[in-house]
Amino acid sequence: MKPATSAWQHLRKLCLSACLVACIASCANRPTPNVASTLAIVGGTVIHPQRDAARATTPNSVIVITDGRISAVGSADMVPIPAGATVVDARGKWIVPGLIDAHVHFFQSGNLYTRPDAADLRAAMPYAREVTRNKARLPATFKVYLASGVTSVVDIGGPFWNFDVRDAAQRSPAAPRVSVAGPLISTVDDPPLDLGDPPIIKITTADEARALVKRELARQPDYIKVWFIYRSDAELPAQEIIVKAAADEAHAAGTPLAVHATQLAVAKAALRAGADYLVHSVDDASVDDEFLRLAIARRIVYCPTLFVTSGYRLALSNTWKPTAAELRLADPEILAAMGDLSRIPRELVPDGVLKLMADPPPAQPSDFAMKNLRKVWDAGIPVAMGTDAGNIGTLHGASVFREMALMQQAGLTPLEVLRSATVYGARAARHESDVGIIDTGRFADMVLLDADPLIDVENLSHIYRVIKGGTVFDPDELIRSIR
Ligand SMILES: [Zn+2]
Repeated sequence: MKPATSAWQHLRKLCLSACLVACIASCANRPTPNVASTLAIVGGTVIHPQRDAARATTPNSVIVITDGRISAVGSADMVPIPAGATVVDARGKWIVPGLIDAHVHFFQSGNLYTRPDAADLRAAMPYAREVTRNKARLPATFKVYLASGVTSVVDIGGPFWNFDVRDAAQRSPAAPRVSVAGPLISTVDDPPLDLGDPPIIKITTADEARALVKRELARQPDYIKVWFIYRSDAELPAQEIIVKAAADEAHAAGTPLAVHATQLAVAKAALRAGADYLVHSVDDASVDDEFLRLAIARRIVYCPTLFVTSGYRLALSNTWKPTAAELRLADPEILAAMGDLSRIPRELVPDGVLKLMADPPPAQPSDFAMKNLRKVWDAGIPVAMGTDAGNIGTLHGASVFREMALMQQAGLTPLEVLRSATVYGARAARHESDVGIIDTGRFADMVLLDADPLIDVENLSHIYRVIKGGTVFDPDELIRSIR
């Protein structure tokens, strides 16, 4: 037996080295996916979103990736290409850190059937079938994110099975890094979404809030999330006490609190109660000094989430049209269903939707939301790019380009938008020391682009390759694999 074993081992060794040589020879042309332990990205212009404009680029660079992390980065005359490394030719490309969508929901698909509480199309598509589809489609949804250059996401609330999504992403060879919150602790209930593991749970007392937070803490959430829905001024003080109970319980375990609060009075109540992350714009008034003071004192992250309301309006008025980036990078199955209102018999369409179809509302975000973004940014509050993807009309992955275009329209420079989608996104994802910039020791998460994103953020969608943890992906191959 022994000689046979050693002969087999010899053969195996030979085969392994032959395979390695073959891979090194072919991988530069066919880099998808690539698991070689040392990779050198050579000749591209690295963009450093953490720096000011004058020092934000390194042309003709070398990035060395070893075992999934960046082991060296600098200009080609300073950083040698290690012998035996697999080389990716990045001449003529721009290289940015992997994008981070700091506000998504995997239990929703972005199609018309995904929020029956907002548009009740259950007669056309039972909600249970929609959710079953979303669970089964997760591997494809993960790939859609990578294809759009999004290498980390924050799922900021969903059913308890959200925690399984984080585990599934960790196990998957092609998935973004996923941070999660569990069910939303809510000031109102939302029966249409309750299939036994509801994403939104109404809480009426501080004790109930603490009990639900405890249940969620057992699953080690990255955030506890509150859905702070305002009904009247009279209710606000009592609601603030409930939110504070949730915040205190979360903070005692070292877990931050994310809050959905879209009105100025509610956002301030959330900040007083202990919010660490505001996942929406204040969209009913200009943020005032008190808001900015509270936000700075709590060192919060602010996610403007500008596109999501437009997404609902466009999709439910049947005027939603895919962007060029969505046509190339979004889930083909969802794209095919976005125009279903043209096909669903009218008697199955609720009156509210019929009204929107007859008289499509303006799709632009609120003026307050747009202006508040610049004010919050200028006050020095970190702003994380987030889409609220999964909501009706806001597709997983490629909607980041719609969101970033609006941020640029709101007055942020392309470099500031990129900083928001990387550096501050990393803070929102709670992976601040691991992702968000291209630097030694960080995970090798980056996007190679065919156009300069510092001229216009639209160029961030001109994706050549995406690298996550040192594995190289071709976005077009990712999408082909889920068709
Ligand atoms: Zn959300």
